[in-house]
Amino acid sequence: MSELRSRIAASPLRLPTSLPALPRIDDLVAALRPEAPLTCLRPAEIGRSASDFVAGFPGDVMYAVKCNPEPTVLQALWAGGVRHFDCASLPEIALVSGLLPGAHIHFMHPVKARHAIAEAYAVHGVRDMVLDTAGELGKILQETGHARDLGLIVRIALPAGPARCDLSGKFGAWPDDAVRLLRAARPHCARLGVSFHVGSQCLDPLAWRRAIETAGRVIRASGVKVEVLDVGGGFPVAYPGQVPPPLGAFFAEIEAAVDALDMPGLRLWAEPGRALAASGTSVVVQVQGRRGGVLYINDGVFGSLSDAGPPGFRYPARLVRGSDAAERPFSFFGPTCDSADVMKGPFLLPDDVGEGDWLEIGQLGAYGACLRTAFNGFGSGEAVQVRDATLI
Ligand SMILES: *Cc1c(COP(=O)(O)O)cnc(C)c1O
Repeated sequence: MSELRSRIAASPLRLPTSLPALPRIDDLVAALRPEAPLTCLRPAEIGRSASDFVAGFPGDVMYAVKCNPEPTVLQALWAGGVRHFDCASLPEIALVSGLLPGAHIHFMHPVKARHAIAEAYAVHGVRDMVLDTAGELGKILQETGHARDLGLIVRIALPAGPARCDLSGKFGAWPDDAVRLLRAARPHCARLGVSFHVGSQCLDPLAWRRAIETAGRVIRASGVKVEVLDVGGGFPVAYPGQVPPPLGAFFAEIEAAVDALDMPGLRLWAEPGRALAASGTSVVVQVQGRRGGVLYINDGVFGSLSDAGPPGFRYPARLVRGSDAAERPFSFFGPTCDSADVMKGPFLLPDDVGEGDWLEIGQLGAYGACLRTAFNGFGSGEAVQVRDATLI
């Protein structure tokens, strides 16, 4: 199964000359009648999300590349003022450094391959690296030849919090270990930091306050000077049934919590992924069959809708042809023969939707097309830039 499930990305679409360079989704569907999922990118919206975040966050904004590595997206973020990129692998680092030569790249995976550490440092000029064990500190020091210009960031663990996607189990040092790591790393680096991740799609600003307080206690207990506090990602966006407080409420809580630490000169970083990328992409899918309240569509949990599967995310959906019929809830089946390829939703659509119709599914710019697989022969698809407003 593994070769069938290899990840593939959408390829850029060559537009027919009858369409403007930045078409509307409705015109695209009329002209192309696409029978494979069509990824629709809104560079202007991505740029706006980026400039809002950069203007509001009281520190450096680092985009978490895994969330959506489309070159168009990375360029739109750059145009919106993002200059720092959080990468987790050598291919991500090579992608960003090739595409955006002035970018500051940070290697934020706590458990890295040795060759990736060496190449990131020597070839791509990466200086900041995260760690959560003494073993990883040893690897970084060895593979960089005990470089004197490293930024070493100790990732601390957090108990499971209110976030929609809990990330507490996999990475991070608990306080006593984090204290030891800060002391061990201090003599080897040009700058020392502490990072955490409250979990993805976290709707509660207080989660950051509690994490910042934990980080503050670890820093004080270590007795060493720390220059950077990285408050991670997790900043939420709107989905049907989930309306987060405005981003400003999160920034205000973070600023107040950091002020209360009373550590002058502490520089703040954030690593947003979802908050910068989600609203910038819709996927246009086609309905291939209907059974009552279930629509069989040509994209699914092995495609760009994996978070609509077991994680249970709901996305805004729109019937492209429009209809006056009353809306009702639908669930979706994806195109593969796997019974796990089901998306409960509910997705609200006009009751007369049926075979052959096209749907726009919105807010899919984060953890969407980048998770697409070729399982069961599905997964091909093209990407195009559009000018439409977002669905939410
Ligand atoms: C995935 C990830 C992010 C981005 O998280 P969002 O919830 O998309 O903001 C940031 N930092 C790290 C270390 C991550 O693994």
